[in-house]
Amino acid sequence: MHSLKNTGHKLLKSINQQKVLYLIFSEGSISRVELAHKTGLSQQTVTNIVNRLLEDGLVFESEHVPLVAGSGRKRVALSVNSSSHYALGIEIAGKYIRGCVYNFRNERLSSTKRSVDKYKNIDDLLQLLHEVIDELLEQVPVLAKTKGIGISVQGLADSKQGILLRVPGLGFLQLPLTSLLEAKYELPVYLENDANLLAVNENMNGCLSGSTDNITLKFDYGIGGAIFSDTRLISGSSYVAGEFGHYKAFTGPEAYPCHCGGTGCLTTLLSISGLQHNTGQTLEAFQQAVRSGDESMIHLHDTMIRTLAVAISNLVTFLNPDRVLLTGRILESWGIDIVSKLKETLMESVPMTSRGVELLYMEQMPEETLLAAGLVLKRVFEIPLDALSL
Ligand SMILES: [Zn+2]
Repeated sequence: MHSLKNTGHKLLKSINQQKVLYLIFSEGSISRVELAHKTGLSQQTVTNIVNRLLEDGLVFESEHVPLVAGSGRKRVALSVNSSSHYALGIEIAGKYIRGCVYNFRNERLSSTKRSVDKYKNIDDLLQLLHEVIDELLEQVPVLAKTKGIGISVQGLADSKQGILLRVPGLGFLQLPLTSLLEAKYELPVYLENDANLLAVNENMNGCLSGSTDNITLKFDYGIGGAIFSDTRLISGSSYVAGEFGHYKAFTGPEAYPCHCGGTGCLTTLLSISGLQHNTGQTLEAFQQAVRSGDESMIHLHDTMIRTLAVAISNLVTFLNPDRVLLTGRILESWGIDIVSKLKETLMESVPMTSRGVELLYMEQMPEETLLAAGLVLKRVFEIPLDALSL
């Protein structure tokens, strides 16, 4: 009984400590008084926690700011010591693996990349991944202060179990990636699909904040999608919800076979890899052919846009989101005008009741390795909700 109580007390202490540390991090700089106010903890508890954090070198007293402008009273602001902790952010894409070292101020300290035409097999992928991680770990200023590795994958991942399910070019796998890497590097490893990662980031503090129901669609080397319903990411029963790439979209002569075994999937033409596979054209060559008046390519281009408009209209009708976020290099190559065209079709075709939806376009996606490193940061500050009832 005694030891149980002690465990509870210790846990509560660490949760309060995480709360305080996270607030100092997210606010940039904050005083002890504000910390007490925002956490609901007593001034004395905050002082005790801050003293411990100062001793550990996790935070530092950054500046003296007048409490009230013009008054003589000053407060001491606290900031997280950015140089004290690091995270690795890795991006696994169809043609490359890239990685960067970040400190807790989201500043990039170093980066490296391995390019590949196509992964030959799982070992080939792991070999390149190890090379990237090894090189980055050599560049971390203090290895002991590396808090983990975050991985974003352009493919499918079961983020809860840390299993890689699909990578472009390798088809379906069941690779327990996080446990493999954790055993090798003795660091916590977190894995997430790139579209989910983008959607979570935008819902937390980007262009989807304030939205309760939204869809994120990324048309890039492959197609990625994420659905937020009632402010929660829908993961599905086997963590692959939002896989819009295999939405049946094309019929007739444009219904190309898809690597999933079906035909006419959205990804067979509306992704860089599908376009190249089925028409033999790179995105740049295709756009160039359209611009120079190649009739068959113009026809295909119009079909792609019309199909995309229908697909989005169906998703909006079905899921009733308040916002839809579009991004990726396919859309980038078409330019911003395409969004107003899509909007027009959307407003004509969806039921009156769903027309409140906003169509957003993100030209510049946030740096993917930074989002991946954010997985580490998020876990470092994570407060287990079920522990709060203690
Ligand atoms: Zn398919």
